[in-house]
Amino acid sequence: MMSLTANEEAPLHPSLTLLQIGHKQEAANQTNKEKRAALSRLDTAAESALAALSPDEQEAWIQLTGLPDVLLPVPVDGADELFPTLMRPEAFLWEEAPQGYLSYDPLHFYAKPYAQLSKSQLQRHIEDVTAQYVSAARIHAEPREHWLQQIRRAFDDHPFTRLAREKQHVVQAVETLNRSSLLSVLKEPEDVAYWRHRVEIVLRPYRMIPPDWRWDMCRHDKQLTIDGRMLRCTCADCGFYVQYDPDEDHLFLPEEVLMPRAVKRIATIERQFNEMAVRTPKVIRQLQGLQQIERRLAQETDRIRRLLQMQDDLGEHAPSFPVLHTARLLEAAVLPETDVEPELHSLAAVDLPDIALLRHADADWLDEDVSRLLSDAETALKAALDAAAPRPDDVVFQRAGWELLRADQERIEAYLLTTEQPVTFHMLVRMLYGRPTNKLRRFHLHEAPIFGLLADWPEKHIHRAVKAVIDVHGLQEE
Ligand SMILES: [Zn+2]
Repeated sequence: MMSLTANEEAPLHPSLTLLQIGHKQEAANQTNKEKRAALSRLDTAAESALAALSPDEQEAWIQLTGLPDVLLPVPVDGADELFPTLMRPEAFLWEEAPQGYLSYDPLHFYAKPYAQLSKSQLQRHIEDVTAQYVSAARIHAEPREHWLQQIRRAFDDHPFTRLAREKQHVVQAVETLNRSSLLSVLKEPEDVAYWRHRVEIVLRPYRMIPPDWRWDMCRHDKQLTIDGRMLRCTCADCGFYVQYDPDEDHLFLPEEVLMPRAVKRIATIERQFNEMAVRTPKVIRQLQGLQQIERRLAQETDRIRRLLQMQDDLGEHAPSFPVLHTARLLEAAVLPETDVEPELHSLAAVDLPDIALLRHADADWLDEDVSRLLSDAETALKAALDAAAPRPDDVVFQRAGWELLRADQERIEAYLLTTEQPVTFHMLVRMLYGRPTNKLRRFHLHEAPIFGLLADWPEKHIHRAVKAVIDVHGLQEE
């Protein structure tokens, strides 16, 4: 909200009006002489620029600014000092007629300090400013929502948006294949390199549009500003803008695309890929082979999953089986439902984390009965798991001929978990050693079931064994 400060300069500067920004304050440092000189220069430049306006433009100007006449607003602060730059017309757009004062918003000011401009530079600046007020005045005639709708529709109808929407599946397939390991096995390597180079050029305009603006305008809040005779629509969330020409009802992208070329290029990139795929029949045959294997293994899914888990439990010492090796790689891969074809969309549906999987299409085990192979693997894995299972007579610690067995380790840990006595590390060593000290007696620890368990060991080895293999969760701090 703003007021037109009572303007003593008015008779001297008939093309200007002083516009107060912020609260009224005392004290002004600017001398009247400086201020008058600055206002005179502005007034001279504004007079000729405003005189060039048509009657319609003048009327719109008055509607926009809410001023009684066609005047250029010159911002002053609460102490009547001039701001160094002029007001942008956005300060008035879709605002009520000014009353009181206008609050300060840095977005409402031009960047160019007018006092530093030469006479001709100032004239050009004022003409630019005037032209933007005229644009804003025309836009002001319709509500903000109207223009947002116009822009949304114009973006929707923009030839490049339409092309992108129509070719969305191609663009996405090309992006996927450009990252795919399959590219490395297609023929010829120099053709693949050339294709990737073309992809960078062809997809550039699609990648320039932020994700939320593909394949129609994003839904974030927008900022509408005057940009010459255009309306600029900015999304701060997406860091993107478009320009809209209200006279021509035409929308411009930040970088316009040559449409006939773009249409041709997206078709070419698809055709070139298909040609490479057709020249690599071996890979297509291998992929189809993998699809057959996948279908064959599908009947044994549960069993395969169980066997793979058994292998995982056994870790690096697990016995390996070719059929399970193939199954494991296939589980991490994605193949389309329908038979793979030497064609962009079909191959974009393939995802092989390990390209070595292709060689499994010719694996030796394929001639054999899968069910029998899996049974053999199951038997072997069960045996391996049994052999690896912990036993009471496993040696869990040994030093210089002294051996601690798993059964004793478990007895000690079970005691520590259940005892209510405050057993420390050193007390435990003494207990296992079996020599009753006063402290052990005080807590009746010489009656504990593990007392003297390692009575024939040298004490220093008991110390090491406890440190190495006993879970100390049940022990007290020293
Ligand atoms: Zn956005």
